[in-house]
Amino acid sequence: MGLRSITPCCEREAASGRLCEVNMELPVIRNEFGFARTQCGCARCSVFCRFMPGYLIPSDLERLIPPEEDPFTWARSHLRALMVAPGGMPSLVPAQQADGHCHWYQDGGCAVWQNSPYGCAFFDQHMNQEAHEQRNQPGRKVRQEAFEQNTLYAQLWQALTDGGLVTAGRGKELNERLYAEFQEIGRRENQAAPGPEPLAISEADAPAQRGVVELFAYTCPASRRLHHEMQRAQSRHGDQLVLHLLPVPMCSRCNAFVEEGDPGQHRACEYARLAWAVKIAEAPAFQTFHEWLMQPHEVPRLPAAHRYAGTLVGPDALERALTSDKLEEDLQHMVRVYGSAGRGRLPKLIHGMLILDGEPNGETLEHFLGQLVGLKTTSPTPLSP
Ligand code: SF4
Repeated sequence: MGLRSITPCCEREAASGRLCEVNMELPVIRNEFGFARTQCGCARCSVFCRFMPGYLIPSDLERLIPPEEDPFTWARSHLRALMVAPGGMPSLVPAQQADGHCHWYQDGGCAVWQNSPYGCAFFDQHMNQEAHEQRNQPGRKVRQEAFEQNTLYAQLWQALTDGGLVTAGRGKELNERLYAEFQEIGRRENQAAPGPEPLAISEADAPAQRGVVELFAYTCPASRRLHHEMQRAQSRHGDQLVLHLLPVPMCSRCNAFVEEGDPGQHRACEYARLAWAVKIAEAPAFQTFHEWLMQPHEVPRLPAAHRYAGTLVGPDALERALTSDKLEEDLQHMVRVYGSAGRGRLPKLIHGMLILDGEPNGETLEHFLGQLVGLKTTSPTPLSP
């Protein structure tokens, strides 16, 4: 779409303060269901091109099938019917090469990037599960409607299924390969991170052999959800799992890796300061305060948190800790750990060189704790329903 733009179009015009008119083609960002397409092509975001291509929605067919081609012939070459468990949502997905790569994945890139399927173009690995689900819901709905109304999408799925041109859904083996791939990427990122830092919190908190460092923010919903998952994990693994909790100051003033305007900053710093001041004032009180902040659905208001911290360690001790050099030093150490762990989203779980970045699903978390940390489950309770 050509958009008319009025800008200072040369240095002289700009210097004079006058504007001249130019007509320029501005890129149109693809949009579906009110969501803008994602742009990231980092190693994490392209993993699925090599293991599990994203699903199509009905409108993808209009974009992808050349008008002169017979849709059924075209689909046999380019698509497969994704088989799902009973009750699941059948989908069309790109065909795969013999090595499992999407057949549009060529020379390390997507040959149809501009029109790539909804399940590819609108998701990336920097989103949390909630954002994924928000985008998945309308994608699921339009596929369901396609099958209810037996539109071209459903007809193609049926024709491919009848012809045996199907692909299996995501099973245990694929999950394990995906998981191993993400771990390998995490290991490479960690090695490449500038200025590697030891991941110990402090001398007193040097990670035990099975220690897991948890980077989080009290105001971050994903961090709060992970807290509850970790509680369940601790009840399963008992003393085998040693957690080192690091509330990261997430504002651009305190944290060189955070940019002004980044989401999730609001008050995260104040809560991190307050909690760590409690730890400095009286280390055993930290766990109590941490639980008190994390248990409710939303973080308690700051004045109430301040009052409660005072009752735990005494108002004077709290004030001394809040204004201490040690608090600043410890927070900056956390910032360096956060930077070394790849910065970006929270929460993060770290064990040695392994980093679990962002909010993991139950299965991924269990892998991390069970296989990499080497824990044995002491209770058969599943991690999440
Ligand atoms: S269609 Fe493109 S983005 Fe989607 S999996 Fe294939 S190569 Fe990757």
